[in-house]
Amino acid sequence: MGADLPDIDLHRSIAARLAEHGQHYTANRRAVVDALARAGAPITLPDLLAVDESLAQSSAYRSLSVLIDVGVVRRLVHVGDHALFELAEHLTEHHHHLICESCGTVVDVTLPDRVEAAMDRTFDEVATALGFAPLHHAVDIYGTCATCTP
Ligand SMILES: [Zn+2]
Ligand SMILES: [Zn+2]
Ligand SMILES: [Zn+2]
Repeated sequence: MGADLPDIDLHRSIAARLAEHGQHYTANRRAVVDALARAGAPITLPDLLAVDESLAQSSAYRSLSVLIDVGVVRRLVHVGDHALFELAEHLTEHHHHLICESCGTVVDVTLPDRVEAAMDRTFDEVATALGFAPLHHAVDIYGTCATCTP
């Protein structure tokens, strides 16, 4: 992510997902996706509007809602006043979050393959013991960021 040129596959995939839900990939929805892709990290709605100053808050918010409904954008549970948004993992890559409980900053982190494999083994063990069939996991790490740590 974070490329300057629009990612053709990304847009094609999102257009297809919207079509499955009887929705169109409008210019505004595309602009919101472009801004999220350019940000390359979870961002708030005000941050999103700063990335693309042609976006209006009301229409960007409506676009985000539709994109969340069809599973293209993920809304992150957040400790601060503003929700954070990012493109769904199936459009980017599997990762985890470092969430600062002090300033609310959220940073994406990818873990080494061996760590992911170890986590999956552990989660599979716990889940299957309860008759639960695990599909994937979401784990976020809460604490204080480098700026907020005294
Ligand atoms: Zn912080
Ligand atoms: Zn993320
Ligand atoms: Zn993981």
